[in-house]
Amino acid sequence: MTPDPLNRLVAQLAKLPGIGEKTAQRLAFHILRAPGEYASDLSQAIREVKEKVHLCVRCFSLTDSETCGFCRDSRRDERVLCVVETFADLMALERTREFKGRYHVLHGVLSPLEGVGPEQLRIKELLERLNDGRVEELILATNPDVEGEATALYLTRMLKPMGLRITRLAQGLPMGGDLEFADQATLAKALSARRDL
Ligand SMILES: [Zn+2]
Repeated sequence: MTPDPLNRLVAQLAKLPGIGEKTAQRLAFHILRAPGEYASDLSQAIREVKEKVHLCVRCFSLTDSETCGFCRDSRRDERVLCVVETFADLMALERTREFKGRYHVLHGVLSPLEGVGPEQLRIKELLERLNDGRVEELILATNPDVEGEATALYLTRMLKPMGLRITRLAQGLPMGGDLEFADQATLAKALSARRDL
């Protein structure tokens, strides 16, 4: 018989994506055997991520203050704004070290089938950000799949009259792919060879 606390830990770990019952068990034993304060550090880190991390009020990436590090960093060019679907996509672009502008995270893509319309995304907030006229180029870095393309098209039609340059990441990224999983070289190339829309 396995002790109940151990069963509970295994059950919680098994809920994580990509973690099956066996791996959950191995992780649970690892935590049980780990030296010193590892278990309390781990549980504190999990608690704090829920308590302290929230959306940046400006770009909707993640932060533990009011605005995120990307928005606060005065060395980043506020004239170039890169629109991404998720925070994971933002991090993928950051890993290329190619982009020195600002970000805007939509938190999804238009998907009529799943009931996601413009009002479910941070599009209204994007418009508000563009209103002061400081942004000169908007890079639409939604994923190169059907919904990502449709979202880019929707934004282009809506924002083109504002007179700013609107670009899209170049192909080279696999169709139907996901920015989060693209290798750095491919993503860096796609970013530097972006095209006007
Ligand atoms: Zn921000």
